[in-house]
Amino acid sequence: MADNPLGGLGGLLGGNLGKALSGFMPQDAPETKLFKATTELGDLQKQEAEILAEIGRQAFAQNPGAWPQADKLRLIQSNIAAAQGTLDEAKRVQQEADAAKAADDAVGRCPSCGHKNSEGVKFCQECGGKLGAVFCTGCGVALAPGTRFCGECGAAQDA
Ligand SMILES: [Zn+2]
Ligand SMILES: [Zn+2]
Repeated sequence: MADNPLGGLGGLLGGNLGKALSGFMPQDAPETKLFKATTELGDLQKQEAEILAEIGRQAFAQNPGAWPQADKLRLIQSNIAAAQGTLDEAKRVQQEADAAKAADDAVGRCPSCGHKNSEGVKFCQECGGKLGAVFCTGCGVALAPGTRFCGECGAAQDA
């Protein structure tokens, strides 16, 4: 909403009036008329700005040297590239933090009942279920806790 051409009025509409309009309001109420007129004007100005921007992009591409704003535009574009890099890096760090948190949460988590157990315990303190990796007694593949027959070799597993 930072580029709202209506500025303060747009902010006003987003706040008190916007809230009031979420409830029932008669079509001929002054607030409704104000809201509709403001919205229509805003929509039209947005369409105008989009078309002007498109024309501007084409005009600039045809003759980049003809525009006194070219240096400023290049500076902004280089700042956009830098900001995009900062955003990508922040996203990567956030994903790493999320993954670390999920991995930490998975430690000691009971696969049967979901209880978060103390570190190092082998059986769930809530339901007694087996924790951690379970391996087939026949072929040694990793099995989900509670598996009765190995999906790989068919060997029956101790409960
Ligand atoms: Zn459990
Ligand atoms: Zn097996």
